[in-house]
Amino acid sequence: MPELPEVETVRRTLKALITGKQIQHVTVRLPRIIQRPDDIQAFANLLAGHTIMDVERRGKFLRFILDGLVMVSHLRMEGRYGLYLQGDVLDKHTHVVFHFTDGTELRYHDVRQFGTMHLFQTGEDLQLKPLAKLGQEPLDPSFTLERFKEIVSSKSTKIKPLLLNQEYIVGIGNIYVDESLHLAGIHPETGAKALSDEQLEHLHQAIVSTLTEAVAAGGSSVKSYVNGQGESGTFQQQLLIYGRKNQPCTTCGTMIEKTVVAGRGTHYCPSCQRPSVI
Ligand SMILES: [Zn+2]
Repeated sequence: MPELPEVETVRRTLKALITGKQIQHVTVRLPRIIQRPDDIQAFANLLAGHTIMDVERRGKFLRFILDGLVMVSHLRMEGRYGLYLQGDVLDKHTHVVFHFTDGTELRYHDVRQFGTMHLFQTGEDLQLKPLAKLGQEPLDPSFTLERFKEIVSSKSTKIKPLLLNQEYIVGIGNIYVDESLHLAGIHPETGAKALSDEQLEHLHQAIVSTLTEAVAAGGSSVKSYVNGQGESGTFQQQLLIYGRKNQPCTTCGTMIEKTVVAGRGTHYCPSCQRPSVI
């Protein structure tokens, strides 16, 4: 599933490709992708004639900013957007097509069919589902060490599920949680309340640096992720721990182990990330 760096990369490429384009009409080939409004024809009718002003991001959601409307879209497992020319061969996994007045088309392609689109009037989307309950943006200047301590210290849970919970901090999924915990030398099953001030400082730094570097590399191309121009990211080559079971830790040479924490496959180094003694 794309996480913050991948969605941010898609956002940047789409912003460059489609800002200023006016929608002529919309074709919905798979109604279940459209979550709001209930009426698929209303979704298409509302968008017709509107111009894309910007593409923003909230957590792992894309926000297409139009004149008077906001379309919120989640790629879930394998959704992807691409810009095509009218007349290009249509793939059977293309579920929604936004036809622009200049003869180009934004196509939404999703083999797994789990992706979603919600359409709102301007000003509504951040107050309603699915964005309303989202937590702190980790790459926003407001994500200070103090803010991080405030979020973590009040929770009676293990640190990995806390970091995965989008109501606390957004955009971090399984890959970047494992990477951040490894970089900070913290065992994924450590209780949030058991973390020392020093560990919290290291973890805060690790989250920000891991996400920042991953964005700079265009995200990680694990599974079928590509950006809005069909290009792969390269951060998977820099991953220290994720997907490296039974390979030596780059810090200490100990074999990396894989276990399950909070129902998720979890990679860690048993030497660099020792469980805390409470
Ligand atoms: Zn190690």
